[in-house]
Amino acid sequence: MANPITVTSPLLPSLEEFIPYLEKIWESKRLTNAGPFHEQLEQELAEYLGVKHISLFSNGTLALVTALQALRITGEVITTPYSFVATAHSLLWNNLKPVFVDIDPRTNNLDPQRIIEAITPATTAILPVHCYGIPCDVEGIQEVADTYGLKVIYDAAHAFGVRQNGTSILNNGDLSILSFHATKVFNTFEGGAIVCQDEKLKRRIDFLKNFGFTDEVTIMATGINGKMNEIQAAFGVLQLRHIDNALERRRLVYERYRSALEGLDGISILQQPEGLDWNYAYCPILVDGERFGLSRDELYERYRAQDILVRRYFYPLICEFPMYRGLPSSDLGQLAHAHQVSRQVLCLPIYPDLEAQTQAKIIEVLLGARAA
Ligand SMILES: *Cc1c(COP(=O)(O)O)cnc(C)c1O
Repeated sequence: MANPITVTSPLLPSLEEFIPYLEKIWESKRLTNAGPFHEQLEQELAEYLGVKHISLFSNGTLALVTALQALRITGEVITTPYSFVATAHSLLWNNLKPVFVDIDPRTNNLDPQRIIEAITPATTAILPVHCYGIPCDVEGIQEVADTYGLKVIYDAAHAFGVRQNGTSILNNGDLSILSFHATKVFNTFEGGAIVCQDEKLKRRIDFLKNFGFTDEVTIMATGINGKMNEIQAAFGVLQLRHIDNALERRRLVYERYRSALEGLDGISILQQPEGLDWNYAYCPILVDGERFGLSRDELYERYRAQDILVRRYFYPLICEFPMYRGLPSSDLGQLAHAHQVSRQVLCLPIYPDLEAQTQAKIIEVLLGARAA
């Protein structure tokens, strides 16, 4: 049986290309703990992304958990319900209280005005997400943070390589977190990173991801094991050689969707803001069931029936999961925009080697659903 069509396809470099990298690891006998590929990837990524410092992690979730610990965040943290569950889980792992506020429907990101309304004496930080790689209102959020004395940690798991007005979106806030999971634009099978502006803070983060060791006999805090190993890092170094080509091919796929779906009644496709170098990480559409004639979930089932594995990203909202739904800020009545988007959204497959013929099939399901 043919493989199903998935939302992403993670293996862009060929196996032949990767083998020499593996041979190097066998020669060096360095498997982990800041080996040569780890150091090379940190340097090359900082340069490619246009950021000062990068600390690599074994995954994005441990990077999030460690970022909050590194900044000694306490009490309440304002965040978005419209994200992957790891965003809020990182707060619970640090014994912090998530406070959910609604999103701006134009960007699907936190609305600075709503953030202000949610601040209490216990608030110490904001944890926004650049959802789908579309930047938050970073200036608005920084102004709130400066006024109220809050830290800002961006979950930038979707925002690899995104530039706004010529500079990296990752240079905003106190720290930004990347994910290199297999489903992301740039992957190391599993992986992640913290981006920071300050050398001393990077050192602290590097201690924390290695149990808190500062030398053989000294532990500075209750650190975790978040280290990226050499096979992950080597794959990252190789991926980076392909990234510009991968981003360009994603753009072409996105443009084909856009021209096919524009003007289709009841379907809207994400519009990218002016002046943005986007990464085409996702292709979310909103399905207005009444106008389209088929609900989002009915369309989702049509796709599944044809082995096309579209995703309801993000549904349910984080605040609907059992460990969050008892919180006062989880009341869906206060989260109207996030609630509505989560009921309408569907992410279509997008990846660099998605063939035009396969994409035509995906589009056909939408056009056909409408005709029926
Ligand atoms: C993927 C993702 C994460 C988690 O990253 P992992 O590398 O899978 O641990 C966190 N936040 C968001 C928004 C994500 O999409």
